[in-house]
Amino acid sequence: MRSSVIHRIGIGTDLHRLEAGRRLVLGGVEIAFEKGLAGHSDADVVLHALIDALSGAAGLPDIGEQFPDTDAAYRGADSGKLLAESMQRVRGLGYDVVNVDVVIHAERPKLSPHKDAIRRRVAELLSVAVEQVSIKAKTNEGQDAVGRGEAIAATVVAGLTLREAKTA
Ligand code: MG
Repeated sequence: MRSSVIHRIGIGTDLHRLEAGRRLVLGGVEIAFEKGLAGHSDADVVLHALIDALSGAAGLPDIGEQFPDTDAAYRGADSGKLLAESMQRVRGLGYDVVNVDVVIHAERPKLSPHKDAIRRRVAELLSVAVEQVSIKAKTNEGQDAVGRGEAIAATVVAGLTLREAKTA
């Protein structure tokens, strides 16, 4: 009997509008800023893109199908809880996280002082080592909605490995 390792890769993206009077939560970390992201839940674009990347890698439905925004249960929801629920499904299928690579697209606020806290929080939420998480921040050079500071977006790639995959 030899064991074979099965790797799966998933991608997720998300974008939310910036609005006055909302909290700004990115990767489970609240960031002091004059605006926050609008949405049904806490509108954490990083965790939403992360859920889609992990779910995609595991062959699960997208975040909208897993947590419908028509469901009052998810109004103002902590996206960390949605991620935990989603991760339970991913792990239930036998997958473990190899790594997640996150790009946050934001003109403002400046994210470099927050990248480390976001990295640590995402690792904690996934129960993985910080070395398995990468957080990058990019501006959009003043172009498009993100560049004009009207929205923040995220792109995430996630790698999973199937536990105890064995072939005879
Ligand atoms: Mg979203």
